[in-house]
Amino acid sequence: MIGQLANQDKFSNVTFSPRGGGTGTNGQSLTSGVVVDLSRHMNKVLEINEDEGWVRVQTGIVKDALNDAVRPFGYFFSPDLSTSNRATLGGMVNTDASGQGSLKYGKTSDHVLSLQAVFADGSLLESSESVDVLNEGTFAKQAVEIARQVCASQQALINEKFPPLNRFLTGYDLKNAYQADDDSFDFTRILCGAEGSLAFITEAKLNLTPIPKARTLINVKYNSFDSALRNAPFMVEANALSVETVDSRVLNFAKQDIVWHTVSDLISDVPGKEMLGLNMVEYAGQDEEEVAQAVKALTDSLDEKLKTEQDGIIGYQVTNDVGSIGRIYNMRKKAVGLLGAVKGSAKPIAFAEDTCVPPETLLILSLSSAHCLMVTNSITACLGTWMQVYCMCVRHWTCAILNKNL
Ligand SMILES: Cc1cc2nc3c(=O)[nH]c(=O)nc-3n(C[C@H](O)[C@H](O)[C@H](O)COP(=O)(O)OP(=O)(O)OC[C@H]3O[C@@H](n4cnc5c(N)ncnc54)[C@H](O)[C@@H]3O)c2cc1C
Repeated sequence: MIGQLANQDKFSNVTFSPRGGGTGTNGQSLTSGVVVDLSRHMNKVLEINEDEGWVRVQTGIVKDALNDAVRPFGYFFSPDLSTSNRATLGGMVNTDASGQGSLKYGKTSDHVLSLQAVFADGSLLESSESVDVLNEGTFAKQAVEIARQVCASQQALINEKFPPLNRFLTGYDLKNAYQADDDSFDFTRILCGAEGSLAFITEAKLNLTPIPKARTLINVKYNSFDSALRNAPFMVEANALSVETVDSRVLNFAKQDIVWHTVSDLISDVPGKEMLGLNMVEYAGQDEEEVAQAVKALTDSLDEKLKTEQDGIIGYQVTNDVGSIGRIYNMRKKAVGLLGAVKGSAKPIAFAEDTCVPPETLLILSLSSAHCLMVTNSITACLGTWMQVYCMCVRHWTCAILNKNL
């Protein structure tokens, strides 16, 4: 209906912007026109195929609600993000979201089988179907044909310019949409990461991942945040499902919140030492023996390092209990949210959000950005990293009045 209205001449100046949970950090769903909230009424699970392991949903469904619906079938939608209790599948598809677990599970676009897209003239396409079924002259047909032509004719330039990243940048995935060897073109790749700029995505067919039979979380504690960062390559090489580094400031926020009571025994202080950094390392899989071996290899190596006081490691704690693991991740997700709701005039201001960084250069980058802040503002920095996607976020701890003067 929106497409049919937008297609009328008298509404040609009106812009429509799709909105999911509104958690996009760049305010992408905002517009001076009409914001269409898909989370309100388009949030249903349409079909679950247990045998083939896929689900079809309306895209206003929240990610945690989707997992609640498919859990009884032994599946989950594996790309994760901190805002999973409010971000929608439409938002995830359009920002190609990923987060905890992405070393193994990849990003949203890796799990999209097909998308239903509605264009501004009301034309509609199912992205897995052939372009031949689309009506001539429609926006849907034009979008597919032009995107295909650009990808095929500019492939050399696209390959030269696009960085070799495992986590793809938000934007049209021109690099992976076209395959020269068999001359195939996948328009789903263009829609994923399009930030709502091409069409409203109304339905999505998504592949599901079997819930792992075994899960173990190892919380490695450090005497400094730098030590935790310096350990990044070692943790990534240990072939974990995910590695998350949290600094002492984020930990302290959590400690002041009621959420800490749910995890205090799982991340306890080390007597006589100050815990200023944490690496949360998870192993998971279908084969319990394989997971146990990987955990043993890491803990043996941690024991050695502890004996010789290497790498600033002051202790570690292991948990296999799924409920406890969930509580720890919930604490981490909440702590990041708490950063945005800090009381007083000093606020953590976003400085580098979701910046892709090779693990071995995390420390250098973190230190240099903190140093830069100290030179300019003489105030401390708050750092948080999501290493498993080589993705760094830096929040500078600065004062509202200072900001005003900048
Ligand atoms: C504290 C915090 C932590 C975060 N952590 C992560 C993280 O770990 N990983 C990560 O990837 N991101 C993270 N984000 C960013 C954000 O949560 C994601 O980008 C999320 O996927 C957005 O989903 P949403 O439903 O809120 O989308 P919105 O913010 O509503 O929209 C995002 C974009 O998608 C478009 N869009 C939404 N729905 C549709 C639709 N149905 N059809 C077409 N276009 C649509 C909008 O127009 C907009 O351009 C975080 C954000 C915050 C505030």
